Amino acid sequence: MKLHENFPLKEITTMHLDARCRYLAEYSSIDELRTLLASPFFKEQKSMHIGGGSNLVFTADYDGLLLHSQIKFIATVEETDTAIRLEAGAGVVWDDFVKYCIAHNYYGAENLSGIPGEVGASAVQNIGSYGVEVQEIISCVHCVDMSTGETISFSTPECKYAYRDSIFKNEFAGRYIVTSVEYTLSKTPRFTLTYGPLKELADKPGLTMNDVRNTIINTRNGKLPNPDETGSVGSFFKNPIIPESQFKDLQNAYPAIPHYPAGEGKIKVPAGWLIENAGLKGFGIGGACVYPKQCLVIANMGNATPTDVVALYRHIIGTVANKYGIELHPEANII
Ligand SMILES: Cc1cc2nc3c(=O)[nH]c(=O)nc-3n(C[C@H](O)[C@H](O)[C@H](O)COP(=O)(O)OP(=O)(O)OC[C@H]3O[C@@H](n4cnc5c(N)ncnc54)[C@H](O)[C@@H]3O)c2cc1C
Repeated sequence: MKLHENFPLKEITTMHLDARCRYLAEYSSIDELRTLLASPFFKEQKSMHIGGGSNLVFTADYDGLLLHSQIKFIATVEETDTAIRLEAGAGVVWDDFVKYCIAHNYYGAENLSGIPGEVGASAVQNIGSYGVEVQEIISCVHCVDMSTGETISFSTPECKYAYRDSIFKNEFAGRYIVTSVEYTLSKTPRFTLTYGPLKELADKPGLTMNDVRNTIINTRNGKLPNPDETGSVGSFFKNPIIPESQFKDLQNAYPAIPHYPAGEGKIKVPAGWLIENAGLKGFGIGGACVYPKQCLVIANMGNATPTDVVALYRHIIGTVANKYGIELHPEANII
């Protein structure tokens, strides 16, 4: 296990804000993790688990211990003629897992191409993009109980998945550490092409998963900042889901408002549109700004402080609430 002291969070979070944690512990096995959890050192600290830091906004120094998994493996659990169940360690980079699936002709993960972060967080966040959520391919999540060190596994229904949400963000927040995740992939072609630019691929002869991946990566590169160049956490806010009656009033006032059905009597409205239509495109406070190519993103233009980011996201929430009567909720984990 590697223990770092006074570690710069800039280096391990994609928002690249200038803050530090007191300790960072990187463990490589469940045994190492258990030894750490049982130690007096661990019990003395406040602590939290991180992955690739791509959905974390530290608003100040973290006076405690950050845990990070270096458990990295991909293994076959079970295989039939038509499907395969793979287990991946929590520390595997998510997009490496996607690339592995594509290289081996396992279908189901390709629409989630290019999402930053790691396998462990995929199961916490229920990552989603281009019409697919990871819950559709997860079959089991293996964890360690932070207080007892015991291992426990959760089936997909037990994870209570919802839009960018799971039991690990609610009832079980701070209780379980994800050590590995099992995913079931199809060995026969099975594409989801219902979303945006993927629709154009539907009639392509000999369509491959790499066609889907390349289309997604190109689209993402065109509208989202590259975390290596511009700090961000991707979508800062969740798209609000509102009652149909409230939506009708909104549509009367703003006929062009985009919208999507979100279950009985509910409508999902893109938060990016609400922010842009409120005149906030490119609006900045200090070094933080509403990313002009995608208003759902708060970008660190290089010198943003945690205070700039907090002031900006609060300003956005206030402006949107005043204009539309809708409360935006951060998708990012604000710490
Ligand atoms: C440019 C950009 C684009 C993005 N695009 C998308 C997108 O299209 N779709 C999408 O869904 N998300 C997107 N995101 C958000 C982000 O990539 C996801 O939320 C991702 O799952 C976070 O993974 P991470 O490993 O970085 O986790 P972190 O940000 O480090 O942590 C996220 C949460 O998971 C918890 N966690 C992490 N690892 C573990 C573990 N092993 N056990 C228990 N809890 C753990 C943390 O405590 C925290 O609550 C984007 C982010 C960026 C910067």
